[in-house]
Amino acid sequence: MALMINEDCTACDACRPVCPNEAISAGESLFVIDALRCTECVGANDEPQCKLVCPAQCIVANPDWPETREELEEKYQQLHS
Ligand code: SF4
Ligand code: SF4
Repeated sequence: MALMINEDCTACDACRPVCPNEAISAGESLFVIDALRCTECVGANDEPQCKLVCPAQCIVANPDWPETREELEEKYQQLHS
């Protein structure tokens, strides 16, 4: 399941550099996660790195993107092949 950033984001830019998939970018006012690139850090790290560094705790699961761990691993491999 990809993650998403909610309206509590303060656009601090702490999350963008730690993403192993370059899935995070600055949007109009909030930062945005590209669901096609987010693997919940599966393939690279034990836990979502963006959530670890976010001071606003505004990064949550994206209910529109249900994915199994196997699907996330395959997604990671495709992104980095
Ligand atoms: Fe990037 Fe990992 Fe956050 Fe997804 S969970 S946006 S892959 S840092
Ligand atoms: Fe927004 Fe959190 Fe990323 Fe900062 S770390 S830009 S508050 S989502």
